[in-house]
Amino acid sequence: MEDTIAAIATSSGISSIGIIRISGENAFDIIKKIFKTKKDNFEIKANTINYGYIVDEGNIIDEVLVSFFVKPNSFTREDVCEINCHGGTVIINKILALVLKNGARLANPGEFTQRAFLNGRIDLSQAEAIIDIINSKTDKILKESEKQLKGNLSNEITEIENTILDILSDIEANIDYPEYDVEEVSERKLREKVEEIKNKLLLLENSFETGKILKEGISIALIGRPNVGKSSVLNMLLKEQRAIVTDIAGTTRDTIEEYINIKGIPVKIIDTAGIRDTKDIVEKIGVDKSLELVETADVVVLILDSSSKLNKQDIEILTKIKTKNSLVILNKIDLNKEITEKNILDINSEVKIIAISAKENIGKEKIEQEIFNICNINEVISENEVIVTNTRHKDVISRALNIIIEAQNNINENVPIDIISIKIMESLKILGEITGKTVSEEVISKIFSKFCLGK
Ligand code: GDP
Repeated sequence: MEDTIAAIATSSGISSIGIIRISGENAFDIIKKIFKTKKDNFEIKANTINYGYIVDEGNIIDEVLVSFFVKPNSFTREDVCEINCHGGTVIINKILALVLKNGARLANPGEFTQRAFLNGRIDLSQAEAIIDIINSKTDKILKESEKQLKGNLSNEITEIENTILDILSDIEANIDYPEYDVEEVSERKLREKVEEIKNKLLLLENSFETGKILKEGISIALIGRPNVGKSSVLNMLLKEQRAIVTDIAGTTRDTIEEYINIKGIPVKIIDTAGIRDTKDIVEKIGVDKSLELVETADVVVLILDSSSKLNKQDIEILTKIKTKNSLVILNKIDLNKEITEKNILDINSEVKIIAISAKENIGKEKIEQEIFNICNINEVISENEVIVTNTRHKDVISRALNIIIEAQNNINENVPIDIISIKIMESLKILGEITGKTVSEEVISKIFSKFCLGK
């Protein structure tokens, strides 16, 4: 029997209400000791919300609403109750302490969801979807995480697993009853099914390119000489879509990091503004330094002032960014044109060029579209499409895929069928790590430790 756990489920700080969640065998016994309603003969009924007071030795602690979920119809599949109290830090902690005093244990981070998983209400990939829903930074990744919670990745994996099981039972039949003349048929079938599995796994593996971008976004470095209009371009991009992400870890004295949401993709903009403050970034610190700063960016955006001829540093940067995903923004097209596209292409024939005027607010959509094109971003994702957004899932899929490819090669090399069978079985075991059927305790603990308290 699992012990009874409790935790504050709402975020800390002052809020209108706070929620304490209790789950486990003794949840109702505990609540009965501390929750009083106007009725003397109060009974716990499933899926009800009940008005009353939390009391401690006859003293009213708070006026609350308590909801009850009777097992197995609850988030954890255990008896659950949730106390909705007033949202102050002192009051909510006082009630939690009372719950603990009456027999509950403080839950570990993610322990409620872990129980939902261990009790079979959701599988591991669905549990992980819950963290992703909570951490979603844009609508797009939220939608993919909701799809994952509904089970669309699990279903796809189950389908692949079923095909693998089919193959294994065919092989078994072949080994057990070699006297039947099924060999030829089953070999063709085997090849077909292995190919089908390989293609499905490949599709999933490839979807991670989009999934990773949806989840983690992309980073862009804005570089260029002083006064070319870097701040103006940044402001133009930031307009009406102020950063949705507040995490600015990694910000150094040298750079400013701003976050924007371009068509549902989180985009981190690394601006060399901090350096610009020291005046003449390129001259002072050198081209190499500015490029070093953008080394980690997915896309380098070089801004040039089209009203001033290309100078030595511009040419050097244009040459150096040949190896990167890059975009040249020719700014200030409202002024006299001193740089042509040809001037730029003569130095770097691969770079994309966009002419804009930050001052007149011309070219914002073009920049956004070009960034999407450069990163190969899939803008429209259909409801049924399975997009792998989690690195752990992607790694599992790649491992299973490699084994399936090995098995396919073995078939071509006429390797004995029992060896092929072992490989195919191995791929089944690996895939089970996604839904959690075959995953180690250690991995499970690691996954749930990433959750917040009370979830
Ligand atoms: P930074 O030093 O690269 O960040 O450049 P700023 O964004 O501070 O811009 C330098 C100057 O160029 C400012 O006076 C801006 O108003 C001006 N500027 C920026 N973009 C344009 C543009 O498209 N056209 C014109 N005419 N001026 C611009």
